[in-house]
Amino acid sequence: MQIALVGIGKIAVDQHVPAIAASPDWDLAATVSRKGSVAGVPAFSDFAAFLDAFPDVPVVSLCLPPVPRFAYAEAALRAGRHVMLEKPPGATLAEVHALQAMAAARGLTLYTTWHSRMAHAVAPARAWLADKVIRRAHITWREDVRKWHPGQDWVFEPGGMGVFDPGINALSILTHILPAPVHLTAATLEFPANRQTPIAAALTFSGGVTADFDWRQEGSQIWDIMLDTSAGSLALRMGGNILEIDGQVISGEDSIMGEYPALYARMAELVAGGTSEVDLAPMVHVADALTIGRRLQTDPFHF
Ligand code: NAP
Repeated sequence: MQIALVGIGKIAVDQHVPAIAASPDWDLAATVSRKGSVAGVPAFSDFAAFLDAFPDVPVVSLCLPPVPRFAYAEAALRAGRHVMLEKPPGATLAEVHALQAMAAARGLTLYTTWHSRMAHAVAPARAWLADKVIRRAHITWREDVRKWHPGQDWVFEPGGMGVFDPGINALSILTHILPAPVHLTAATLEFPANRQTPIAAALTFSGGVTADFDWRQEGSQIWDIMLDTSAGSLALRMGGNILEIDGQVISGEDSIMGEYPALYARMAELVAGGTSEVDLAPMVHVADALTIGRRLQTDPFHF
């Protein structure tokens, strides 16, 4: 099936382009980006011009940051195209609900992707936890924003989500593996004095679940989720890629290269089946943290 990729920036180049190139399901028919392009692929800088020129490309994958993404998603659905959204699926919950209704009314597929759910160890962790009682859980998600988002000022602009841009990956795993849902009860958010979004967050949920997100981590990076259960402890390390049970490595590999191929395989299934997959649970927790969080001001941040 032909697909167009919109927003040729860091994640498109790192993951989407190689995943599409290696996929038996997809053929990259065009790109749309104001500056970016992919060698050998027809490139547009204007989305409406692409929609007019390629009426038969049935699927559009949007890799833009969340704030500009809605207008593209809405235009794509109006033009009868199936839509795949990078995470987080929107800048607000309501705009994703609007897209969901539009897709449903037109019989089109809308897929809110959560790439971390496709990490190697997430499915086995979910299966192992299915019949356990969770006593406590803690997420540690500490990475260096200068390394992973070099110069990307949008992450600190309204709607950019700040440290929740990576933190929502942890929440996408948490909401997928827990046998029963939890809700946020408290949050402390640290905002750099010169920025609009938090650089660190401490979260408390019901059910003994806590999380520590920090974007100021230098040296080794930490993406761990630890759970104490009625039948032992489970740890997911390396962003959901390594599974440990009672301290023993059970499965996984330290590589994220399987995540995007799995997302594109899922999109192919959804389009073939004529269905959508829209899950906003991770984003609800972020919205709640930004609603009830206590705000602290911290040092100004410069890239
Ligand atoms: P990015 O490189 O800063 O942006 C992607 C591209 O979007 C840009 O190169 C730009 O292309 C286009 N764009 C940016 N702002 C725009 C605007 N206002 N209007 C229209 N186009 C705009 O961002 P990214 O790191 O790829 O992240 C994009 C999405 O992927 C985010 O939702 C992020 O959470 C997610 N993601 C990122 C990573 C990562 O490692 N960075 C990992 C997983 C998921 P043109 O200038 O050519 O138009």
